[in-house]
Parts: sequence; C-alpha cells; structure tokens
Amino acid sequence: MKTQWLYDELAALDLAVRLALVAQLGGRAVFTTSLGIEDQVITAVIGTERLPIEVVTLETGRLFPETVALIAETEERFGIEIRRFFPEEADIEAYVEKYGRNGFYGSVEARHACCHVRKLKPLARALEGAAVWVTGLRRGQSGNRAATPLTEFDTERNLIKVNPLADWSIDQIRAFVEEQAVPVNPLHARGYSSIGCEPCTRPIRPGESERAGRWWWENDEKRECGLHVPDASDDSAIPSRS
Ligand code: SF4
Repeated sequence: MKTQWLYDELAALDLAVRLALVAQLGGRAVFTTSLGIEDQVITAVIGTERLPIEVVTLETGRLFPETVALIAETEERFGIEIRRFFPEEADIEAYVEKYGRNGFYGSVEARHACCHVRKLKPLARALEGAAVWVTGLRRGQSGNRAATPLTEFDTERNLIKVNPLADWSIDQIRAFVEEQAVPVNPLHARGYSSIGCEPCTRPIRPGESERAGRWWWENDEKRECGLHVPDASDDSAIPSRS
C-alpha cells in the first residue's frame, strides 16, 4: 500500500510530531472534533503547536449543552477557531415531516436518515477540497474500531485519513488531559465515555464497551453514524514518497 510509508513513519513518532508531519503532507488538512476526550487531546496539540490543521465540528442541533459550551471554552483555551458546520434547515424540516423530530428511535433506517442530514451532509461540506482528514478514532473505543489504522485512504471522499490516536489507550488519553490541563466534557465524569447527540447517548455500565452508550436501543455491533467508513484497499491516488 502506498500509505505504508506514512503509517511506518507515524508509528514511531509521538503525537505532536505525528500531527506536524500530517500538517506537512500538502493540501488542506481538516480535523473533525466531537469535543470528546480523544478529540480534545488532538485539539490541544494543534492549538499549542499552532499547526496549520483546520479544526471543525458538526453542530447537529441535538448536542448536549455541555458539549456546545465546551466548543467556546476550547477556542478560548487554545486561541483557535473551531468552525461549526450545521445541517440544512430544509433537510431537517423534511426529516421531521417524514419521521418526526425523534423518529430515529423508530427504526435503523430512520436513525441513519437523521445522521445523514445532521452529520454526513455537513461533514461532506466540511471536507470539501480537503486532502487530509484527521480524526480521534481509537482502537480501544469498541470492537468495531479494534482494527483502526494510523493511516488509510478514504476512497469515497478521496482523501488521506489519519487517526493519530489509533494506538493510544484510554489511560494515556486521561494522563495527557490531566498533565496538560486540557478542558474536557463534564459528562465524561458522569459515565458518558463516548458523547454524541443528547437523545442518542447514555452513560455506560460497568463492563460495557466505551461506545455502548451510543444508539443503545439498537441491537447491532456496528452502531456507527456513517462518518467513518471502512478502510479501502485502493489508495492509488496517494502520492508515493520520493
Ligand atoms: S446521533 Fe441521533 S440525533 Fe444525532 S444525528 Fe444521529 S440519529 Fe440524529
């Protein structure tokens, strides 16, 4: 794979150097943050090191107030702008007309339709023209993410996707935020290990996976919102390292 050299380079580096290298790959680099604890670690490094990586978030309209407040707090703390991408009003109106505002509880199809208009379409706008997409995905978050690579090529979006925390443990994440005094969502301390939209997130119980509180009513191991598609084998659009 042509991403192998990048993977090999990143694997040997610490987070700040990983992100500095990613920022130098060329083209627009975008980091999408949900303001979760992993994403706060990446934002802290981008802000502290003044790296040329745009920080964006998907303001779905259904976020917890604590999450919305953390956006502003994080901007203030690190002196950066977190660009908000909102759903289109017409899309929300059409969704509510068809399924009802909370229609996502009714079926997987209705849930996917909600994530599509509130997350996937804004994400497409956020990544328009981007060459690199940075995420806070981590292998330990769930069985579904256990094989998350450090780098992959997203053929659907035609860009390099970098998951610089893929090999970090939750203990490493917690140690980093404590040492660096990184602001985190107060919901984490109330049992919310993974935080998404308010109506679709609950605290986890002892022994559950970190993402078990997301769309908990769906009895499906692959509960995801569709933002993160599986790695693709065709990475021919990635330039080889000379
Ligand atoms: S997480 Fe829930 S509220 Fe948020 S976009 Fe998906 S279905 Fe809609």
